[in-house]
Amino acid sequence: MEQSRVVEYFEGKLGKERVLTENSVLQEFATDITGLRMVQKHFGWSSDQLATCVLKIQTKEEASEVITFLNAEKIVNVPRTGGSGVCLGLETPAQSVVLDLSDMNKILEINEENLTVTAQAGVPLQVLEETLNKKGYTSGHFPQSLPLAQMGGLVATRSIGQFSTLYGGIEDMLVGIEGVLPDGTLTRIKNNPRKSTGPDLRHIWLGSEGAFGVITEVTVKIFKQAPERVMQAFAIKDFKDGLSVIKEIVQAGWKPAVTRLHDRTEAAESYGPFVEEGESIMLFLSEGPEGFASLEGKEVARVALKYGARPLGSKPLEIWLVHRNDICDHLDMYAVQGAVADTCEISAMWSDIGTIYDEVIERVKNEVPHLVAVTGHSSHSYEQGTNIYFMFGAMCAPSTEAAQKTYDQLFGIIMETTLKYNGSICHHHGVGRYRAKWMKQELGTAYTMLERIKNAFDPNGIMNRGVLLPQE
Ligand SMILES: Cc1cc2nc3c(=O)[nH]c(=O)nc-3n(C[C@H](O)[C@H](O)[C@H](O)COP(=O)(O)OP(=O)(O)OC[C@H]3O[C@@H](n4cnc5c(N)ncnc54)[C@H](O)[C@@H]3O)c2cc1C
Repeated sequence: MEQSRVVEYFEGKLGKERVLTENSVLQEFATDITGLRMVQKHFGWSSDQLATCVLKIQTKEEASEVITFLNAEKIVNVPRTGGSGVCLGLETPAQSVVLDLSDMNKILEINEENLTVTAQAGVPLQVLEETLNKKGYTSGHFPQSLPLAQMGGLVATRSIGQFSTLYGGIEDMLVGIEGVLPDGTLTRIKNNPRKSTGPDLRHIWLGSEGAFGVITEVTVKIFKQAPERVMQAFAIKDFKDGLSVIKEIVQAGWKPAVTRLHDRTEAAESYGPFVEEGESIMLFLSEGPEGFASLEGKEVARVALKYGARPLGSKPLEIWLVHRNDICDHLDMYAVQGAVADTCEISAMWSDIGTIYDEVIERVKNEVPHLVAVTGHSSHSYEQGTNIYFMFGAMCAPSTEAAQKTYDQLFGIIMETTLKYNGSICHHHGVGRYRAKWMKQELGTAYTMLERIKNAFDPNGIMNRGVLLPQE
């Protein structure tokens, strides 16, 4: 169908003001805030793959009707909420249609008996958290992008927050969910505490990245705000000893909500006055019912001291708590300096994670020209392993091609090294279009399962084509 007729159709359905077609808007909606694009924009990049229009969706019925039409016409669409994605998941194929759900921003019910909240897909997490706090509750979900992200995107990317050791990732919080399938069918998975009715269908939506349908509403757990909090930091000489401290703590069954280990470069940069040269820093925050946090805090300290860590008190934690989301106000701060900078988070079993960290840092330092820095920290830990969140920055010639080359080299080293030791190429940012090229290696023989789910759900390939599965 011709683009002008598509626009005409939607203007008739939604009204002109909810069908955006200005070139500047389509450019703005053509990508997300992946570090690569941030610096490329600084070098003059603009997308040559623009959507036909952006639709401001307001109800689930509208979402269903719009998708039914797009499916019949075989038009690709890109669902979108907060726009804080960082792996090119929002890039618009030419002549696609963006479904912007950020106007679906109502908190529908806070259920204080069952401890759940039901919210539309476009509710900003920050608004949800502040609303819950006023009633003495918390969502327990604190991704660094809290000021930017919205509920639909948080589920669609399988997000995780800074207090995850205690509260879990979004997959542990999601109770029920409603969404529209690629043929327009509206579906709801009801709220239950647990069930054994076949495969857990919530997991089709968790991490779906818009490839299997559009999420319109979610019900997630809420928690009573903890009455007690204990915060403590330690300096430790060896990063790998820090990993051992965390392993011992979580394997003993303790769950300090915040459990972080920053390597020597990050420690010097952010906690310079507290650490001595070469030291890494560990941050622990325990919270829970009266008596629980102090008990956990004592055990955390006992294990840390056993490994020769140096107690630093609570001040580093206090600083971290205040500044932990500052980057959201300065998203382009490296790009404007012409630096190719981004983060890349991977995970692996305890047996392999230290080797991956060492090898990535060494390879990047040896192989990447004009490197500014490469650092890493562990911020989400489990009985079986942990993540490493790498941060990198390098200078390059001021062109989109040079930026692409440098970015691909940096990312490639992290992906290759992680796969070499059977780690996962993505701990929580999602796959998007950028990491899709590694998905066959990531999933191995299970790749066919993902392919079959995609084909069964979306035989016309209209849902966010290009994310999760590489485009052949
Ligand atoms: C500074 C910064 C810090 C970050 N920190 C974290 C962090 O700590 N933890 C973490 O997990 N992530 C983090 N992220 C990544 C990002 O915030 C998350 O991926 C977030 O979940 C995206 O939510 P969103 O509403 O912005 O989604 P969007 O960016 O709008 O979309 C992301 C993906 O989800 C799909 N999608 C969006 N809405 C829907 C819907 N309603 N139905 C179906 N598919 C949909 C999109 O098509 C896209 O593929 C960070 C990002 C930034 C920029």
